[in-house]
Amino acid sequence: MEGKLYIVATPIGNLDDITYRAVKVLNDVDIIAAEDTRHTLKLLNHLNISKPLISYYKETEKIKAKSIINKIKEGKNIAVVSDAGTPGISDPGEEVIKEAINEGISIVPIPGACAAINSLICSGLCTKQFLFVGFLSAKKKEKREKLEGLKNFTNTMIFYEAPHKIEDTLTCMLEIFGDRRISIGREISKMHEEFIRGRISEILDKLETRGEMVIVVEGANKSDEELEKENRNEMSLEEHYDFYLKKGFDKKEIIKKIAKDRGLTKNDIYQKFINK
Ligand code: SAM
Repeated sequence: MEGKLYIVATPIGNLDDITYRAVKVLNDVDIIAAEDTRHTLKLLNHLNISKPLISYYKETEKIKAKSIINKIKEGKNIAVVSDAGTPGISDPGEEVIKEAINEGISIVPIPGACAAINSLICSGLCTKQFLFVGFLSAKKKEKREKLEGLKNFTNTMIFYEAPHKIEDTLTCMLEIFGDRRISIGREISKMHEEFIRGRISEILDKLETRGEMVIVVEGANKSDEELEKENRNEMSLEEHYDFYLKKGFDKKEIIKKIAKDRGLTKNDIYQKFINK
């Protein structure tokens, strides 16, 4: 019988941040495919797990993906882990998942730590909608072009960055985005964990450029039209009706507008307001 592909999230610092299920899966699979086998061995030793390891890193992803899939077809269950956090999120994983889908193999995610999500939730910025950008290019021109392209994006943005590049990246952001509110999630789940929140200029003045960091950036200001649309989406049906009534629309027009805003049929809305 064909095996399964498990995508297992591992800690991003504190080794206690591994789920019971992840430990069970790592214990049960036949092989663990690791980004850096030495790194994963430390985690496995901590968990008292002994398993055959194969290496699976970015530069060899495509070739290794094929050999992982062949082993699964032979009946082996394989877990993919990266050095830290969720595989496939600025880490290897994508290729083997694509290949497994092509070959009709079952993929099982084992959820867990992710630096992006944990930085976002503690940022104090809007969490309703966001864009994960990941690492910016190391090439200055490409990096600036990417930021220029994001200048008018109105939702929160999440960037990964290496400590030695953080100052340059924040300086570019200040120049291109203006003095936005940001939050830096630093050394999450480790001894020196901190969240540094403020305007880009304030943070540039006091930031320690050591440790692992995630930059969460406030989106651009929304237009009045976008704000009004967002407010409408958060209203109850009754409030939505009154909103258009106050604007002077009649019942028929209101029902048409609400249906359009909410992606429903006019009939759905009409039933609710039959007695109005
Ligand atoms: N797959 C990982 C995840 O799920 O978050 C991300 C791996 S990526 C190669 C490494 C980057 O993630 C770091 O440069 C940093 O931006 C961020 N990162 C990882 N661990 C972190 C931590 N404990 N605190 C803050 N940022 C972290």
